[in-house]
Amino acid sequence: MPRPIRAVVNPTAILGNVNKIKQLLGAGQVMPVVKANAYGHGLERVLEGLKNSDALAILEIDGAARLRQLGWTKPIVLLEGCFDEADLHKATELHCDWVVHNQAQLEDLEKLAALNNSFKPRIFLKMNTGMNRLGLQAPEMPAAITWLDEFTSRLGWPTPVLMTHFANADEAEPRTRQPMAQAQFNNLMRFKPAHWQSSLGNSAGSLNFPELAGDIARPGIAVYGATPGPHAAANYGLKPAMTFISQIIAIQHIEAGDRVGYGSRWQADRAGRIAVVACGYADGYPRHAPDGTPTFVEGHVAPVVGRVSMDMMTIDITSIPDARVGSAVELWGEHIPVDVVADRCGTIGYELLCAIAPRVPFQVV
Ligand code: PLP
Repeated sequence: MPRPIRAVVNPTAILGNVNKIKQLLGAGQVMPVVKANAYGHGLERVLEGLKNSDALAILEIDGAARLRQLGWTKPIVLLEGCFDEADLHKATELHCDWVVHNQAQLEDLEKLAALNNSFKPRIFLKMNTGMNRLGLQAPEMPAAITWLDEFTSRLGWPTPVLMTHFANADEAEPRTRQPMAQAQFNNLMRFKPAHWQSSLGNSAGSLNFPELAGDIARPGIAVYGATPGPHAAANYGLKPAMTFISQIIAIQHIEAGDRVGYGSRWQADRAGRIAVVACGYADGYPRHAPDGTPTFVEGHVAPVVGRVSMDMMTIDITSIPDARVGSAVELWGEHIPVDVVADRCGTIGYELLCAIAPRVPFQVV
């Protein structure tokens, strides 16, 4: 019998989340980010849920190829653009649009023009407005825009889009996040030609201040029903698209003073029942989950007690009489948001969702 662990993906939740984000944005377009195999959910498992999206954004060119294979015919935007000439050819064959974020990539466009391809990509010109990761600097912008505007209209390519990426749209305090996001927005907009579109909103930007998201928002984590910041996804009406679930495979009866697991980290202060769950760090559950990290069993929260090992973890089910061998244990999902587990573990939901191990079987519901 296979181990009872699995990651259950719900494309209907994704459909609802995209619709929710669309609602928030009003007239703006939604271009979900599906890099890292759809944030660990699997491109082929989420695509049905993304059908109402206007376009998809992805990092990996192989992922773009997979999307086309799976039948996605709407625009695909490569978020870091093309790295060499082979990429340019491949992107064109796949009918991808792409981001240009430095001078070298801008110059590469000339190579494409020489090929005289029938596919005419839409270029997203990325500006560094304060994050200092990717993008052209402000002094480079006027010349780049003038050149790209002339270049694209001469070749009959679509009008480019001006884009940037928010650095801290997810900060806890509206007072701290708003000035930075607003400054980045203003910084971009002072260069935007009236006939170009703009693209700014990641999840945090789209959820927290849709008025700064631009014409084409690029939400990632929110599409999968988690949040980029401290605010619960449910507050925005988002539903988790992944449930990470396993079962109790053994129960130990312990006495006060007994210790549990490697390093004997947790010590009982009373007699109780400890459930052993078929999930460990080799499945993608964080090894450093502290005592008290919640799981969900038979309608109740059961805390992690003791160190997570490679294939198993232990939870306290003393106050859950219905819990038995074979009971389902939700590690994250509808009852235990991945953001809560991540927060306990000092990380973000993104990292946990992307880290489901290859040995875990997936299921689509
Ligand atoms: N846009 C760009 C350029 C990104 O790199 C990302 C993700 O890192 C996103 C949008 C989506 O971000 P989030 O998942 O926080 O919505």
